[in-house]
Amino acid sequence: MCSCAGGQQASKPILVKSSDEILIMREANQIVAEVLSMVYEAVEPGISTFELDKMAETLCIERKCIPAFKGYHGFPASLCTSINEEVVHGIPSRKRKLKKGDILSVDFGVNFKGFFGDSALTIPVGKVAHKVHQLMIATQQSLELAIEQVVIGNRISDISKAIQGYVENKGYSIVRQFVGHGIGCSLHEGPEIPNYVQGGQSPRLIEGMVIAIEPMVNLGTHKVKVLGDGWTVITADKKPSAHFEHSVAVTTDGPLVLSARDKFMGI
Ligand code: MG
Ligand code: MG
Repeated sequence: MCSCAGGQQASKPILVKSSDEILIMREANQIVAEVLSMVYEAVEPGISTFELDKMAETLCIERKCIPAFKGYHGFPASLCTSINEEVVHGIPSRKRKLKKGDILSVDFGVNFKGFFGDSALTIPVGKVAHKVHQLMIATQQSLELAIEQVVIGNRISDISKAIQGYVENKGYSIVRQFVGHGIGCSLHEGPEIPNYVQGGQSPRLIEGMVIAIEPMVNLGTHKVKVLGDGWTVITADKKPSAHFEHSVAVTTDGPLVLSARDKFMGI
């Protein structure tokens, strides 16, 4: 799940984690990765987003975790399911059945032993249009490039720049109203991790920070709007959008992708 740009975490302190805390966060995020992998395998034409939500929630509880999104500011489900032009925070529904050619962005978070995990990916439903496939590849690649910038001494703006430079060079646009975030004992901590370069000097990365980096990339305009349900964010021009997210720790050995999955998924 992502945060509103300029939201509460903008002014929150950046909380550094000990190596023991990072180990717990790795456990939390590995459960997120496992659940997302199982959701990925379950995606097929005809399945409803409600079924995927129930599956994620059951897997989470079986693993002694609390679903992080359910009840978060009133969000009604455990899994965010956003189809095609839906960018983020789509609400699962029995009525929303996936069709061949759709793309589905799934975002999932858990609370495990008091620490949060958060990760997302966009999944194709069967074969998707070439240009949509390319959008997914570019979004995933921008996240990989961003992760390479998670090095002690770099600034948050180095992450933002890596994403923006790559994505805009491909002719896509970046959602600005929602951003990544620090993560730890709270789902959303400081600092904000925007996917575009803002003015001013951003914080430097220091050992023990854990951040959720989550580019949201649109095929058309960067503009988005929120539907009447108060949650679902869609592109203003109804063109598709992709979303990939990993929770990453800043370590002396470089970036540690806490939510890494066994195999590449989403393309
Ligand atoms: Mg998320
Ligand atoms: Mg997030």
